[in-house]
Amino acid sequence: MPSPAIVYRIDASDRITYVSEGWDVFAGENSSGGVTAADVLGRPLWDFISDDTTKEIYRQVLARIRTGRRMSYSFRCDSPACRRLLEMQIRLHGDAGGVEFQTSTLTEVARELAPVSQGDGSVGAEELEPGLVRVCGWCNRFYADGAWREMEEAFPRLRLLEHPERQMLTHGMCEQCFERMVGDLSAAEAAGTGG
Ligand SMILES: [Zn+2]
Repeated sequence: MPSPAIVYRIDASDRITYVSEGWDVFAGENSSGGVTAADVLGRPLWDFISDDTTKEIYRQVLARIRTGRRMSYSFRCDSPACRRLLEMQIRLHGDAGGVEFQTSTLTEVARELAPVSQGDGSVGAEELEPGLVRVCGWCNRFYADGAWREMEEAFPRLRLLEHPERQMLTHGMCEQCFERMVGDLSAAEAAGTGG
């Protein structure tokens, strides 16, 4: 039986205005203390995000959403008992800068009991290696699978939002922005020395 969708919303100043049951999936590592909806309503989203990498990701996501774009992507989130394919949708809510996060279950399949030695190649969350994620500080694209990509495309590949604690962001500059900046600099230089 698929799990119900999980929804939470924030207002324009990033304060939590609504959470549905099961919301603490998003709170990740911070949810261990039995935090209830009453504890979080009215508080800034940032109170529940402990590490800087995740904060940076959420900042970029929110900035993107508030320009009117939507994000939606699917990701694996397995439990010991079942394999799950989830979909996260992030979009504007209302017309005052509020944002809604919704995670729904696309498929949920009970795991077959199989001998451990007979793995199928899938990797559980606990086994993922920590990764260093490159993000361009100029165009905010992420380097994933050998190319610079928009976050919608990069996040599922990097598994960023579902396992942020295993990712480290490093800011740099992509080749395209580098070339554009070099071009701008030499244009400015030419203009400056031309008079
Ligand atoms: Zn760039």
